[in-house]
Amino acid sequence: MGEWLEVTVAETIRWNDGLYSLRFHAPLPAFKAGQFVRVGLDVDGERIARPYSLVNAPDETPHEIYFNVVPEGPLSPRLAKLEAGDTVFVHSSTTGTMTMERTPDHRHLWLFATGTALGPFLSMLKTDAPWERAERVVLCLSIRHAADLAYGETIRRLEARHGDRFDFVPLITREAHPVALRERIPAALASGQIERRVGLRLDPEDAHVMLCGNSDMIEEVQQVLEQRGLRRHRRREPGHITVEKYH
Ligand SMILES: Cc1cc2nc3c(=O)[nH]c(=O)nc-3n(C[C@H](O)[C@H](O)[C@H](O)COP(=O)(O)OP(=O)(O)OC[C@H]3O[C@@H](n4cnc5c(N)ncnc54)[C@H](O)[C@@H]3O)c2cc1C
Repeated sequence: MGEWLEVTVAETIRWNDGLYSLRFHAPLPAFKAGQFVRVGLDVDGERIARPYSLVNAPDETPHEIYFNVVPEGPLSPRLAKLEAGDTVFVHSSTTGTMTMERTPDHRHLWLFATGTALGPFLSMLKTDAPWERAERVVLCLSIRHAADLAYGETIRRLEARHGDRFDFVPLITREAHPVALRERIPAALASGQIERRVGLRLDPEDAHVMLCGNSDMIEEVQQVLEQRGLRRHRRREPGHITVEKYH
């Protein structure tokens, strides 16, 4: 299903040596915030493609992906070298189940991301759905260094727009920072640091949790949450935790 589209890069953003965003205008069909596309390049006659979450809201253009360079990886270092006007391949099928419409009713939405997994949550938070469904939204982002904090403007706009209903909790694991927690997400959740910080309990009665990014974080957070009575959400077996693993 779907086809490869050859599209032109509209803009690249270099957040630091290893962190980039790529914007492109592509005639993609309507997608749901939280979904991803396959992006690829032809290398030595072979198309190398990987999935990337869309950062733009469904009603925004251009389309945008946010990625980090995996130095030994075949695609991401090449994507990082692209400039406006270069060609990239984008597959026309957008997909993914980490979306609001698949989320059961909840009062509090907890979003936990490592690194570039911030992207799909920004796409979601720019739409109305999370704010129509939840009284409070907590976005926790784990990064190694303060310089890895991208999309600060977007986060500040969300804070200004949603006031006390929105908390952004940065966790910076490898250096001290005046406002960030210096802890990994699973430990900060297990110790209650995150809940104390936002003044809200993460309980099965009113929470839905989305976990995106690194599989170690996802598995460890799931273990912490399972001890509190939360379980994976599946269509046929409603629960509290939605997951998307990047690697
Ligand atoms: C559903 C889905 C959505 C994704 N969305 C994004 C996204 O929005 N942004 C993004 O940066 N990546 C995302 N990824 C990962 C992405 O598809 C690529 O794997 C990544 O960009 C590396 O590509 P590569 O070809 O250079 O190396 P690969 O051959 O894909 O990977 C090389 C090695 O690096 C590991 N790896 C993969 N991704 C990362 C990473 N981000 N950080 C550290 N190690 C990694 C792999 O496990 C593997 O061991 C997503 C993955 C999936 C499954």
